[in-house]
Amino acid sequence: MSLRFLPQDMNWICRPCREPLQPGMVELHYMGNVFKVELPVCPKCGAVLIAEELALGRMLEVEQLLEDK
Ligand SMILES: [Zn+2]
Repeated sequence: MSLRFLPQDMNWICRPCREPLQPGMVELHYMGNVFKVELPVCPKCGAVLIAEELALGRMLEVEQLLEDK
């Protein structure tokens, strides 16, 4: 399963590097499942930025998908 967590405006910047974040695939482990998720990643230091509200909102959707299965 793969999801996109990218915010609508990809104008996010890695504060320490001052580099614009790029979309990258990241594995998330949640409730015993592994999800490949596209998240904003810093190309320089590899930091992954997940907006907490965004992630939580999406995780609720994922949970519902799993329950529907
Ligand atoms: Zn960085």
